[in-house]
Amino acid sequence: MPKESKNKNNLFQSPKGMRDFLGEKFYEKQGFYTRAESIAGYYGFSGIETPIVEHAEVFTKGVGEHTDIVEKEMYDLHTRGGDHLVMRPEGTAGVMRSYIEHGMSSLPQPIMLYYGGPFFRHDKPQKGRYRQLYQFGLEIIGSQKPEYDVLIIQTGFRILKETGRNIVVKINSLGDSETRKNYLKKLINYYQKHENEISKKDRGRLSTNPLRVLDSKEPETKEVNKNAPTCLETLNTSSKAHFDMVIKGLSEAGINYEIDHTLVRGLDYYSHTVFEFIVYDENGQPSHALGGGGRYDGLARAMGYNKDIPAVGLGIGVDRTIESAKKKVFIPQNKQHPDFYFIQTGEELNNASFHLREILYQNNAKVVFAPQKGSIGQGLGIAENLKIPFVLILGKDEAQDKTITLRNMNNREQQTLTFDEFDNYLKLMKKNPA
Ligand code: AMP
Repeated sequence: MPKESKNKNNLFQSPKGMRDFLGEKFYEKQGFYTRAESIAGYYGFSGIETPIVEHAEVFTKGVGEHTDIVEKEMYDLHTRGGDHLVMRPEGTAGVMRSYIEHGMSSLPQPIMLYYGGPFFRHDKPQKGRYRQLYQFGLEIIGSQKPEYDVLIIQTGFRILKETGRNIVVKINSLGDSETRKNYLKKLINYYQKHENEISKKDRGRLSTNPLRVLDSKEPETKEVNKNAPTCLETLNTSSKAHFDMVIKGLSEAGINYEIDHTLVRGLDYYSHTVFEFIVYDENGQPSHALGGGGRYDGLARAMGYNKDIPAVGLGIGVDRTIESAKKKVFIPQNKQHPDFYFIQTGEELNNASFHLREILYQNNAKVVFAPQKGSIGQGLGIAENLKIPFVLILGKDEAQDKTITLRNMNNREQQTLTFDEFDNYLKLMKKNPA
């Protein structure tokens, strides 16, 4: 018997930080993915789906042990078979695992992929922060060219512009590994001189993940950070050329960007370009990040692969993007408004009704099926409320004669048709939609 949860939980409440998508919310999310996939398709990406769980090392080695999402927020699973799996906290490492597993490096490079779905972080739930969050990701694997950094940012920017909001790209460069080594030295040196001025929490981070001190939210550290050495001034020649090319590309593509020296992103695997998409509020003030990403040339090796695989990617927060969108931009095309409300008045009519449902389906007609205990009038009232244009009535008489009564809810006209006549009627309707 599996052990029960140690917390007293209400069975009829979804787990903390996780939620149901009902009604419009379901369709908005679907609409976002439909639109995002279509835009990614225009820019040359194709889809991939990887498992929701991966071996723990995919993230501990790839993302880095001293990052929040690995150190504190991973959902661990020790399976009955003895495997240590985790529920994916982010998408990049799993896609890289898949690229290596399937030998995608032997295909023409780079490989450009998009994906979407749920991710899991055992974070403190609050407004806009969920434990089951949804992301839409893009990865370009197999090229170190800065043109692909631009392409990733451009595609993400176009997807986020669908919200109708002002989006600005914050951008920085962490350079290549040589630059990063030099920069870390400078940075640690600087912080050691100001050790007593930064917060206690950040002092702890100095030995494990000093870059994180740079994007600290602690007020005293923020003050010290104002004069911290910047990575951009430490870039070696090739890293600087890479960054300059990206910035130039963004200008050419008409993308609003701002250089932010404190932007490092939380994860260990980034190199060169790092960026975040910031949404501005109604008052023209920067509000919060809708997504972010960067180049991760060192990820494959960090995961234990024997070669470097250059790559760049991004993750868009779907929950926050939908919440930030101006009303109803993501209702999908395929939300189905029914054409018919089908009232059936008794169980003995089931066979006729099964037959009719197939006629409707074969003709692409969308139907709400309503076996009726109450009066037909009640059914008509519901159809009217739901704004369904036609009602089908299958009563005892109709079933006996193999007919169906069709009522037009606009002019209230009714006609009785045989099943064949109804089939023809639907075919005509399909050819000449109203
Ligand atoms: P990250 O993978 O941390 O860079 O996150 C990319 C984007 O996902 C962020 O900019 C947020 O919009 C979104 N995001 C990250 N964590 C959460 C969360 N716990 N709940 C909802 N959205 C999140």
